[in-house]
Amino acid sequence: MTDHTIPIKNPANGSIIKEIEKDTPEKIRDQIEQGHNAFKSWARMDAHHRASLLYQWSERIHEQKNEIAEVMTLESGKTINESLGEVDYARSYIDWYAEEAKRVYGRRIPANSEDKRILVSKKPVGLVAAITPWNFPAAMMTRKAAPALAAGCTFIIKPAEETPLTTIKLVQLAHDAGIPEDVIQCVNHSGKLVGDIFTESKQIRKITFTGSTPVGKTLIKNSADTMKRVSMELGGHAPLIVAKDADIDFAVNQTIASKFRNAGQTCICANRILVHENIIEEYSRKLVEQVKQLKVGNGMNEDTDVGPLINEAGFNKVAFQIDNALDNGAELLCGNKYDSDSDKNYFYIHPTVLKNVDQSMRIMQEETFGPVIPMVSFNDLDEAIDISNSTPFGLAAYFFTNDYRTATYIHDNLEFGIIGWNDGAPSAAHAPFGGMKESGIGREGGTEGIEPYLETKYLSIGNL
Ligand code: NAP
Repeated sequence: MTDHTIPIKNPANGSIIKEIEKDTPEKIRDQIEQGHNAFKSWARMDAHHRASLLYQWSERIHEQKNEIAEVMTLESGKTINESLGEVDYARSYIDWYAEEAKRVYGRRIPANSEDKRILVSKKPVGLVAAITPWNFPAAMMTRKAAPALAAGCTFIIKPAEETPLTTIKLVQLAHDAGIPEDVIQCVNHSGKLVGDIFTESKQIRKITFTGSTPVGKTLIKNSADTMKRVSMELGGHAPLIVAKDADIDFAVNQTIASKFRNAGQTCICANRILVHENIIEEYSRKLVEQVKQLKVGNGMNEDTDVGPLINEAGFNKVAFQIDNALDNGAELLCGNKYDSDSDKNYFYIHPTVLKNVDQSMRIMQEETFGPVIPMVSFNDLDEAIDISNSTPFGLAAYFFTNDYRTATYIHDNLEFGIIGWNDGAPSAAHAPFGGMKESGIGREGGTEGIEPYLETKYLSIGNL
């Protein structure tokens, strides 16, 4: 290992899978220049041609699904089944935006005099720079690259240092599919260095970022001087409300699906479980029975349900939240951290359920990013809604009820961009994913997801 390389560690056992070269600042600036120069011809290419190249990219990914999933599990620690699912999910964005490329419509506005016409058209913004996190190395990349390329933008990405191999592979497959090398590129170095180069560049017209809220705020500030367009997919702290009339078995099942995916390291996973006091005993008993069945281990084993956390910092944050809750009166129903002192390279947290949690505890105040369920009981719906909204985050929220009036009331009052009603897995390429408040700016997915890569231009024709 040298200062010029990035070692990629397998979080399941601490072994080094590979080392990759860090790109020098000069090389990164050269690549930006190339992306900028490639923009004109890519933007000019007809949308049907761009769409067909996107479909070919998707096809190449499908052909190499198993290889990509294996790399993803090795570098991120997520289970192999989840990695296979993520490859399909990542492709679904490419397929969706291959179609949307053909639907970037303009319009004609009725003019206020007979001798005028007003025509509105959409144009790609230019070279787009993306910075992505380690928790979904494939999907966070294609959710940005696919709409950018479909719109006619060129694209340069910096993946997280923990998980660059999946991104490098996807970019290679895009080139194999016929997308020119300068149109989609990858650079590798630390977030701070690349972030500064990206934001200073006048050739980059847009920054799209997925990651933590503090880094998102820095990127917005640094983008101000060049007035870059920004899209931000940031942190979350999702509440999950179980109303007194909910189908308890179904709610338990969906809570587990939402919470333990990727060992709880997802921005939309249920973080604060609010259960009506009349049903909390039954709900928690059934929940704990199932949580105890989850198998923790190396994600490469097909029967593993919950893999390791990504690194020591991630482990320490979650371990601290558990200790803080227990020190302040929470009750441990199952799980807890593994003893990581015996081997500093292993960062497993056993799926944990905590009862009697209150708002003063750190676990209720900050994003967890680990397989821990803190449960709070409530009596009145407004109390549950107030607790849910009492966070700067506004990404995802869930509620379980079979009463349509309760559902309408909760939906009307939750301040979140993504809401699952009797649904613990709301993400889809055809839906506009994104957050309110400090969870971000803009939406990814759906018809909304291509708009941030387009400028609106209008032409007023006179003297007709
Ligand atoms: P992070 O620390 O913000 O890192 C994310 C990316 O930003 C990495 O590529 C990182 O590079 C880079 N970075 C770090 N410091 C930077 C800087 N000063 N300037 C520019 N880039 C910088 O986030 P994380 O902790 O790895 O990821 C988890 C966070 O992402 C959570 O808060 C989660 O909720 C959020 N997330 C949000 C969504 C969403 O759609 N809303 C989806 C997934 C994750 P290095 O690798 O060099 O550190």
